[in-house]
Amino acid sequence: MRASTKNILEVKNIEVIYDGVILALHDVSLAVPKGQIVALLGANGAGKSTTLKSISTMLASERGKVTKGSIHYDGILIDKENPSQMVGRGMVQVLEGRRCFGHLTVEENIIAGAYSRKLSRGEMKAELEKIYSYFNRLKDRRQSQAGFTSGGEQQMVAVARAMMAKPKMLLLDEPSMGLAPQLVAEIFNIVKELNQKEGVSILLAEQNTNIALKNADYGYILETGKVMLEGTAKSLLSNDKVKELYLGISKGKRRNFRDSLKEDEKRNKHHGSKKKRRVIRQRRLRRKKGC
Ligand code: ATP
Repeated sequence: MRASTKNILEVKNIEVIYDGVILALHDVSLAVPKGQIVALLGANGAGKSTTLKSISTMLASERGKVTKGSIHYDGILIDKENPSQMVGRGMVQVLEGRRCFGHLTVEENIIAGAYSRKLSRGEMKAELEKIYSYFNRLKDRRQSQAGFTSGGEQQMVAVARAMMAKPKMLLLDEPSMGLAPQLVAEIFNIVKELNQKEGVSILLAEQNTNIALKNADYGYILETGKVMLEGTAKSLLSNDKVKELYLGISKGKRRNFRDSLKEDEKRNKHHGSKKKRRVIRQRRLRRKKGC
């Protein structure tokens, strides 16, 4: 079964269950058009990492399973693939929490990303220079032990290592986690540059809604394993509910979409019944007046 050629990734109505009982995703659908950055947003436990792991086929290692729906990557149904086959097909995931080899140098970490490409010494040198042209900071730190570099540098190492596999698509899991705003901005600038200059498509899971939407083309908001809202990044940034619930521009108590939708429904119902009562009152009045 082949999917649309416009989208490098198409996730359709997937359900994910851990340990045979924990329902983590419920009817999640999303698409990543070729060459675009798509943000997957939501709070802790919303299901962002689970979605990424479903796509990179890493769920099995956590006793998770896609039990319904389908995932097509680069036109191919990936239900029978494993993580190393996915890397071979050009999809690389940068896991949450950076995950560098702490005892190796920065450069050794980066080189590790190219293990499947069998590059000659000259090719490797050229690739490293290209990577350092994006990650200037890492060039100065190339001989430092990765475990002793800063959180921001380790995040850069993780992305740089992923880029050494020459991916068509990157899955980034919370690159902003635990980093100072200035470093977050620096990392997102690099991600955007990689997208624009290298043409790599990106699916980005983030809790930092603001920076993610400022750099993405399109976004999906997940809550308790369900997509609650989707739209262009521009439209989401100006959406009142997104502003209130995810950008901290809140007038009252912070809630989630589910509560907010319930409240709207209640308000509409109340408004509806108020209107109904008014109509009945007017009818009675008209009857009394005999008209
Ligand atoms: P965070 O930002 O905290 O990582 P998230 O949006 O990435 O949150 P997930 O980690 O995907 O959310 O978690 C979604 C749901 O699945 C949560 O209820 C979580 O407890 C559950 N879950 C995640 N991983 C596992 C696992 N290995 N085994 C059982 N349940 C899990």
